[in-house]
Amino acid sequence: MKFNIVEIKHKLKKKKERIKRFKRNLRLAKRKIHFRALKNDLKSSLKSDAKNISWFCLTFKNIKHARYIFLRNNKKVIRVINDSQINILNPFHKVNYIYIKFHKEFPQKIFIKGQNANTTYQCKYLHTLIKLNDLSVLRKISIKFSSDVKINRIYVFTDGELPDWVQKWEPPCEKADLLAMSTHSDDEQLFFAGVLPLYAAKNKRIQVSYFAPPLALHRFNELLDGLWQIGIKNYPVFAPFYEEWSMSIPEAKNNLSNHNTTEEDIQNYIVSTIRRFKPLVVIGQDPINGEYGHGQHMYFAYCLGKYISNSTNPVIDPESTRKYGLHSVSKLYLHLHKNNRIVLDLDIPMKELHGKTPFEKSQEGFSKHRSQYVAFFPKFLYGTIRHPITQARQIKDNSPCEWGLAYTTVGPDLICCDMFENLDQTD
Ligand SMILES: [Zn+2]
Repeated sequence: MKFNIVEIKHKLKKKKERIKRFKRNLRLAKRKIHFRALKNDLKSSLKSDAKNISWFCLTFKNIKHARYIFLRNNKKVIRVINDSQINILNPFHKVNYIYIKFHKEFPQKIFIKGQNANTTYQCKYLHTLIKLNDLSVLRKISIKFSSDVKINRIYVFTDGELPDWVQKWEPPCEKADLLAMSTHSDDEQLFFAGVLPLYAAKNKRIQVSYFAPPLALHRFNELLDGLWQIGIKNYPVFAPFYEEWSMSIPEAKNNLSNHNTTEEDIQNYIVSTIRRFKPLVVIGQDPINGEYGHGQHMYFAYCLGKYISNSTNPVIDPESTRKYGLHSVSKLYLHLHKNNRIVLDLDIPMKELHGKTPFEKSQEGFSKHRSQYVAFFPKFLYGTIRHPITQARQIKDNSPCEWGLAYTTVGPDLICCDMFENLDQTD
């Protein structure tokens, strides 16, 4: 009996030691991640002209978890409410930029207070870059917001050229060359894979629009990160239609009508978006199989084909006729459409993409959609460990290279390898 108690005590002691060892290793691992993030930031700040000095000068008042904000892989967000305040104490450098990635929603206004001057910044984007201009000379700056917000990341930079990963969003296009009408967030990376980076690298003005914006608000962060990665500079726009799974056009139509969306609403959104951005080319998704059987992909693509020419009819959606005037689209391409098939080569390395191919850029773009790393999607774009996909031409089903000319005012394509064939490029 006595022997048993000793044995139990011994086992308990061993167990305690194991737990202690585990906790110590966990602490060390966390510290390692922290220092790796520090090293990466330091590296990036050395590479670019503008120095990332967030580490040295940001302080937080009444904000929980603020210290986690510097961890690159951190999933925590900081909540800025009422009396919370972010301070920039800046004894050695001139602060010229503040870059904030808001979580889910952004405030209308950002109040920036210096020692002798104040300014109010009108916030328009979820990922916002503020140039401080004349406030940059101030030694201490405090930041407050017009409403309670959550922040994913905040960075402070000195003057100079900012690193590529800092998003400097421009307003939506006034006149687009290409209007990409994606159904959901990530369709533009998966089924338009390579197309947007290809034409962005060719200096085309690209506007991206989503029929059914994400229901989960954190996915707007992924969407922006993904678009920025593939070279889109103009802020995307969103229709107000409800995202819901369906397997056919009637089912998609029925679901949308349950949310008070009629086909006329969809028609009006299509014609008003075309009138607003005045594109030469519009692209949409697969109307036949909905890429992988998604009824909303089929339905919105069907509506695009049916109503695209109505943007020249002043009676349809008269409000947007008054606001933007009429516009005729030269071409509509739908993914995998049967008419006048074209095949794009998305596997040519381009110097504008630093030697990467347009398809590889979209692979990078989709890597920002971490929440979508489920089921079919990553396999579709990256393949498997045994059979990795490195080129667009390796995708046999739903090839992102294959498009059909569903509508044209400039005649059919003859060479069939460029969406801008037959178009006056100087327009
Ligand atoms: Zn989709």
